Amino acid sequence: MPELPEVEVLVRHLAPLLQGRRIRKVEVHRPRVLRPTSRRQLSRILIGATFSSVKRRGKFLLLTLKKARPSQTVMLVGHLGMTGRMYLLPGGGPLPKHAAVVLDLGQERFVFEDTRYFGRFTLDATLLQKLGPEPLSADFTPEVFSQALQLSRQPIKVKLLDQSLVAGLGNIYASEALFRAGISPMLSARKLGANQVRQLWQAIRTVLSEAIDCGSTVPLNFAATNEQDGFFYFGREQGVPDSYEERLRVYDRSGEPCLVCGTVVKRLVQAARSTFYCPSCQRTKTERKVPKKRSSNVDRYPP
Ligand SMILES: [Zn+2]
Repeated sequence: MPELPEVEVLVRHLAPLLQGRRIRKVEVHRPRVLRPTSRRQLSRILIGATFSSVKRRGKFLLLTLKKARPSQTVMLVGHLGMTGRMYLLPGGGPLPKHAAVVLDLGQERFVFEDTRYFGRFTLDATLLQKLGPEPLSADFTPEVFSQALQLSRQPIKVKLLDQSLVAGLGNIYASEALFRAGISPMLSARKLGANQVRQLWQAIRTVLSEAIDCGSTVPLNFAATNEQDGFFYFGREQGVPDSYEERLRVYDRSGEPCLVCGTVVKRLVQAARSTFYCPSCQRTKTERKVPKKRSSNVDRYPP
């Protein structure tokens, strides 16, 4: 399932391909992905519009378009859901079976394909309102992170998936960040000590940055099947080692030895989602609170 790095990689690939391209026709095969926008609204707004930028916010793609008459800027909000993909296809040939929306750009077509239709392709920007800070931006500080965590009794792994805490983390990178920080996924969010918060804050930024760097160096693999979604974003040429899977240290490795200590990696279900962790590197215990130094004996031995 695509998370922040996969969406960022896709945005970087799409931005130069779409820049300046004009939409001639709009085909909607699965109106469900548009909700609450209607087919008519989408066609009326998009036909004749030109792509001016493609950006990302959390796991959303923000496609900005300009229209000349009447002069206006339009924003399309895309979400890949569980199985969504966006790419350019040469004009004329057959469409993929699960093409949800197709935008005719003349020589090529922009396709939003989604086999399970959990994705979105809509003019409704209210989806963005509740998003927390971007984890790789300066807005996401250890202080902001700490304050938000202190309000939650949820296990830290579950809380990390809350898009209003920090935008863009999903199941894979939440497990990976907790492993890197050596924090148990079961620890209550508000019980993290100051050092643990800082370590987790750093780990989140590191795992996301590394994944983006990894994905940005390879071409998208449009031929990948649905079982290999990762390869779409982290494309792999035939015969080249599988760097996408190797990059993950704990996710989907239950039963295998921990890469750090050799303990068997465990799988746990939290809020109906799988969590992977090393019971040895990620102990449940909370950080030992260091007692504050007394300023003088007067405090310690009140009269
Ligand atoms: Zn371990």
